[in-house]
Amino acid sequence: MRSFTRNSLPGRVVFGSGAARTALAGELESLGARRVLVLASERGEPLARELTAPLPVVEVFTGVREHVPGEVADAALAVAERSDVDCLLSVGGGSAVGTAKAVALHRPVPIVAVPTTYAGSEMTPVWGRTDGGEKRTGTAIAVRPRVVVYDPELTVGLPAGITAASGMNALAHAVEAHRRGDPVTVLVAREAIRALTEGLPQAVVEQDRTEALYGAYLAGSVFAVVGSGTHHKICHVLGGTYGLPHARTHAVLLPYTAADAEGVDAGALRELAERIGAPTSLREIGMRAEDLDDAAGRLPLDPGSARTLLADAYDGRWPA
Ligand code: NAD
Repeated sequence: MRSFTRNSLPGRVVFGSGAARTALAGELESLGARRVLVLASERGEPLARELTAPLPVVEVFTGVREHVPGEVADAALAVAERSDVDCLLSVGGGSAVGTAKAVALHRPVPIVAVPTTYAGSEMTPVWGRTDGGEKRTGTAIAVRPRVVVYDPELTVGLPAGITAASGMNALAHAVEAHRRGDPVTVLVAREAIRALTEGLPQAVVEQDRTEALYGAYLAGSVFAVVGSGTHHKICHVLGGTYGLPHARTHAVLLPYTAADAEGVDAGALRELAERIGAPTSLREIGMRAEDLDDAAGRLPLDPGSARTLLADAYDGRWPA
C-alpha cells in the first residue's frame, strides 16, 4: 500500500425517496433553527414553498440566478440580515445552494441544502459569485452545507436535457477524483461512476432517478475532497470567457479530458453522452469558431494540446 494523506469533511446526509417531506423539520430542529431563510429560483418557488410550509420560515428569497450574480448575493444577504435569520435552506440546483453559500460567507449560519439537480455544489466548501462579468471562487468550510437532504422524487421533473448535462457534470466530478484522489476517495469515485453510468440512462427516460442522484451525491463528495483539476479549469475558462453553459460545457469536454485518466474508459463516457442525449460538440452549445484560437491561449494546457482539444471538441470529432 502506498502512503497517502486524506482529508475528511464534516456534514450530514439524509438520502431517500420522500426525505424532503419527512426529514426537514427534524433536521432544522436538531440545528436549533428558528428563523429560516429559504432560497430558490423563481422557477423553483412553488416547490420550495410547498416543502417548507410546515417549517419555521421567516422569508422566501426567489431571486436566485445562474452563476450567483453579485447583486443577487447582496440582495439575499440583505434579507438574511434584516430578518435576522439563523439558518439558510436552499431548494434547487447549484445556483440555489451557491446563493446560500454567498450569504453564509458574510453571515455564518448553517446551510441546509435540498438539491434538485446533480451539480454537487451542496457537498463542497467552494463558493462563487460573479461581479462585472467575472466569476470569483474561494473555499471556506463555513459555507459547506451542514445537512443535505437528497430526495430523488424532487428530480423527477428535471427535463431530460438538463438531466443529461447535469449528470455528465457529476461524472466530471467523479473522474477528477478518480484521477487524483487518495485510495478511499478513488473507491468512492469508482462507485459514483458506476451509479451515474447505470442511473442516467434510466433517469433521462423518466424511470427511477434514485441511482443517478446517489451517484451525483458520491461524485460531489469526492470532488469536495480533491478540488478542481485541469478539466474543471478548462470548463471554467470557456464558461467564463465565452458564456458557455456550465453543465453542458462539462458534458462536451469530459470524454476528451478523461482520455488520459488511468482506469477511466473515455470512450464509454462519450457513448453515454450520446445515449442520454447530452451535447457532444462545443459548436452546438454556442462556442464560435472565431474564438477558438483565443481560447486555446487561455487554457491550462500546452498550446498544441489546447488547439487539438478545442478543434476536436468544437466539431465533436471522436475516433471511430
Ligand atoms: P441551476 O441551479 O442553475 O439549475 C439548472 C437549471 O435547471 C435551471 O434552469 C433550473 O431552473 C433548472 N432546474 C433545477 N431543478 C429543477 C427541477 N427539479 N425541475 C426542473 N428544472 C429544474 O444549475 P446547476 O447545473 O444545478 O448548477 C450549476 C451552478 O452550480 C453553476 O453556477 C456552477 O458554477 C455551480 N457549481 C458549484 C460547485 C461548487 O462546488 N461550488 C459545484 C458544481 C456546480
